[in-house]
Amino acid sequence: MIDQNSNEPVIAILGAGCTGLAAGIHLTQRGFRVVLLEKDDHVGGLAGGVRINGNTYEYGPHTFHTTDPQLLADITSLMGDELIPYNRTIKIKFLGNYFKFPLAMSDVLFKLPPQTVIHAGLSFIWHFIAGRIWKPPEENSETILKRYYGNVLYEIFFKTYITSVWGITPAEFSPAFARERIPRMNILEFLGKLKLGAQRRFGSTVKTDSYVEKVEGNLYTTRQGFSLITQRMADRVIDCGGQVELNATVTRIYCDDNRAQAVEYIQDGVKKQIECSAIINTLPINEALLMMEPLPEANVVKAAQALKFRALVFVGLLVRRPKVLPSSFTYFRQHSFNRISDLAQFGFHITPEGSTMLVAEISCDVKDRAWNDDDFAKQGVLEDLIAEKLLTREEVIEMHVFRARHAYPIYTLHYEQHLAILLQAIADMVNMETAGRQGRFQYINTHIAMKMGYEAADRLIAKSK
Ligand SMILES: Cc1cc2nc3c(=O)[nH]c(=O)nc-3n(C[C@H](O)[C@H](O)[C@H](O)COP(=O)(O)OP(=O)(O)OC[C@H]3O[C@@H](n4cnc5c(N)ncnc54)[C@H](O)[C@@H]3O)c2cc1C
Repeated sequence: MIDQNSNEPVIAILGAGCTGLAAGIHLTQRGFRVVLLEKDDHVGGLAGGVRINGNTYEYGPHTFHTTDPQLLADITSLMGDELIPYNRTIKIKFLGNYFKFPLAMSDVLFKLPPQTVIHAGLSFIWHFIAGRIWKPPEENSETILKRYYGNVLYEIFFKTYITSVWGITPAEFSPAFARERIPRMNILEFLGKLKLGAQRRFGSTVKTDSYVEKVEGNLYTTRQGFSLITQRMADRVIDCGGQVELNATVTRIYCDDNRAQAVEYIQDGVKKQIECSAIINTLPINEALLMMEPLPEANVVKAAQALKFRALVFVGLLVRRPKVLPSSFTYFRQHSFNRISDLAQFGFHITPEGSTMLVAEISCDVKDRAWNDDDFAKQGVLEDLIAEKLLTREEVIEMHVFRARHAYPIYTLHYEQHLAILLQAIADMVNMETAGRQGRFQYINTHIAMKMGYEAADRLIAKSK
């Protein structure tokens, strides 16, 4: 189908996360020659995993879910029996109690002190009614969260937590942050659940534009975690004649007259270049634009420099015990990490038998000590878990540190204006598309990333006709 010896330029897909892999499958299945360039030594990006001593440590870890019948069919046919259902449990440790998440009314009522519950209830009702009548002249995430939860619950559950996890206060966030990332707890929640039930039953195509991050549909993983899904996607690209180049860091995109001509990358220390007929970018949109030669106009460069990401350091522990945490995901507020997961509770196959793996997530900036000092990160997590009486030092078999520099786009106030400039700069390119979590600077889940990959491929195919 595809002539690998041909000298015809290929479509270069930058990044082999869910978006790049989905675009690769879509294009190769339609007879296009593609090469995926991936800086890591494995595919999957944020949804990938690191294999050590027979175990896979995941960033997260991830679960697959979608209400889109086509996507679900694609992944189930790719994975067959390897896809297993997963029952998610989430808890937040707060004021000595574990609360369910998203916040449940019952937990708020029975686990907070009675006077706080009364204050919280009055404040919730007041903000709910006031929010229907009056809106502030300029919204930010603080105004939205107060409207969702009332002042008291906002102060207790969100203000300090968000500030410590993200490094900025809710008032410094665009309203889009609260709308896309924080689930609501109000009367409308019930209606939302009814809608979700209907979607589960009848299935509906998901939209990638203005997607609001939420978990919908049944949850799936594999005995090796989500990373096995991304590995199978890469296998499919290769089976269909595509190329996946690992340890290949893209450094430059050569352009001429609004057309991408070639990509420069460094692989195993060697600088290489490939001519390309088109590009699908899944790298951070701002970094891709700053790699262009010649550089885009000054306003685009300025907008590219304004976008910021929050990083995550993951500390993985192999523990000699079948289960450590009260839930598969547990959130803590006063520890070095904000979330920790217990991988045995996801159904992962873990060796030696009778052990589990924990992955703690430390949210930070790349200038912080946790990002730059492995021992500091490991020590902090271990001491916090011991202080919580969740494990003893002797039960820990091994510890590892992994990093994700671009874990979360930070929706600072007015980021939308910078992003619009960057998206327009790419739209002006005649043979380039940008897609994915980093590529569109959007909180999305893996199924939306895959769908974005398909859609970007379709747009390129349409342009090439
Ligand atoms: C902690 C966490 C937990 C999550 N949990 C879930 C979940 O349970 N379920 C779910 O559906 N979604 C989850 N998500 C969201 C999910 O990870 C993303 O939506 C999805 O992985 C995005 O895929 P992507 O391909 O767009 O981006 P990425 O996965 O970021 O892929 C981009 C790729 O580009 C590569 N790259 C970057 N720079 C270069 C360069 N210069 N040269 C070459 N390659 C480069 C990167 O290495 C990476 O492989 C989670 C996200 C986080 C941060």
